[in-house]
Amino acid sequence: MYDPLTDSSPGQLANYPDSYWASSFSPTNYPGLQTDIHSDVVVIGGGYTGLSCALHLARQGVEVTLLEANRTGWGCSGRNGGFVLNGTGRLSYLQMQQKWGKQTANLLYRENRAAIDSVAELIEQGEVACDANPGGYLKIAHRAHLVDALKQQARFLQDEFGDPVSFITKERLASDYMQHAYAHGGLLFPYCFGVHPLKLADGYARMASNAGASLYQGNPVTGWQKQADKHVLLTPQAKVTANKVVIATNGYTPNKFHAGIDRRHFPVLSSVIVTEPLSEAQLSACGLKPGVMVMDTRALKYYYRLLPDGRLLFGGRGAIRGKDADKAVYKQRLLAALIDSFPALRHIQLSHFWSGWVSVSLDDYPRINQPEHDNSVYYAMGYCGSGVSFATRAGYRLAQMVTGSEPMPALPYFQSQLTKFPFSPFRRLGLSAFYHWGRLKDEWL
Ligand SMILES: Cc1cc2nc3c(=O)[nH]c(=O)nc-3n(C[C@H](O)[C@H](O)[C@H](O)COP(=O)(O)OP(=O)(O)OC[C@H]3O[C@@H](n4cnc5c(N)ncnc54)[C@H](O)[C@@H]3O)c2cc1C
Repeated sequence: MYDPLTDSSPGQLANYPDSYWASSFSPTNYPGLQTDIHSDVVVIGGGYTGLSCALHLARQGVEVTLLEANRTGWGCSGRNGGFVLNGTGRLSYLQMQQKWGKQTANLLYRENRAAIDSVAELIEQGEVACDANPGGYLKIAHRAHLVDALKQQARFLQDEFGDPVSFITKERLASDYMQHAYAHGGLLFPYCFGVHPLKLADGYARMASNAGASLYQGNPVTGWQKQADKHVLLTPQAKVTANKVVIATNGYTPNKFHAGIDRRHFPVLSSVIVTEPLSEAQLSACGLKPGVMVMDTRALKYYYRLLPDGRLLFGGRGAIRGKDADKAVYKQRLLAALIDSFPALRHIQLSHFWSGWVSVSLDDYPRINQPEHDNSVYYAMGYCGSGVSFATRAGYRLAQMVTGSEPMPALPYFQSQLTKFPFSPFRRLGLSAFYHWGRLKDEWL
């Protein structure tokens, strides 16, 4: 599998991974660019960030060309769990308040809720048939001693932001949500919803194209030259000259792609298994309902949801290196965790297993900004594995930045650069140590 830390290109027109999403939907094909062109703005990367940016630029009448190395939604945007969540990064709202103060935390909360709304609005505007499934997001305490912290979190969110979150007792979890071996209580965020992520990416692509953006796939940017104030982007078949460039390659950004973002994020694998449809007996034994999306309080979190056709999607951490991503051991680990959580599913068969690269920032929150010393380049990355809603919003904000149509709100995302990883060649050793620590913590604490 492509490895952004060692490979110089994510490939060219590679097929979608063998995911449940790609097996249940065939996205629209876009042509490859074969001749040299000029475009006012070029967006590199055809995931939610790039597609949303291209859509919002085209809506403002900007001449915009999107270059995708493989296919639209080929990266994380076609591989994720489809959880449309309130937030991004890894900081809790309490941590944000401690770091940046009450007013900024409040603005961040509003921006993140607006991000969810913007996914829903685009789905409605584009009549995107992406199996949008209401039901809410349930964050469960996997240990009894973590329940009090969840209750405090609920009170904090209600008091500070008026969030409609509610606490669900262990008994109600068992009677109304699931028969789970380690669910001691949970928080229900009712406004979060689930989607078919590849259908959503395809819908954004169609909307961007209809709005006037030129989308090309099979065009990896493999070279980047600066000629006076123009950017010349080289792909194997053609080059594009542009006034402005948006980097929307996120966790799939090749090594040493642009000096302004080099070593400023860490691509980490997340993996997913999907089961065969559950039988009536299995469904009633584990009690899961379609629509509800679940994540736990572990250091190494698991996330899962029942899909509309009765399959269970179950995700968690993957391998450390791309070359190991498809090894059976990682699939078996997820299956063991699934059965540990839902013993009634001990004979379940799997239909799919795949992985994708999420972009992790050093300080646990993303940036939407311009690299220092380059006022015609823009980027958004570092979503830390939570980006379906945020990427959609980031694309909208990037488009505003490019045109200067709106000043950015006073939020930390826009006000600093991604922090460089110290000792960056040793990032993977650090990740391995973190996984060992996380396993011990999750088992014993
Ligand atoms: C297994 C998994 C589960 C996840 N689950 C969730 C979830 O349930 N909820 C949630 O909020 N988030 C989830 N995420 C994270 C979420 O999917 C991402 O944050 C989001 O999709 C990022 O979108 P993006 O457009 O920024 O990047 P991507 O979708 O990764 O798109 C980047 C694109 O850039 C292209 N590219 C790279 N280099 C070049 C180049 N040189 N030239 C041209 N093109 C290039 C790639 O081919 C790729 O298509 C998950 C991620 C994974 C991997």
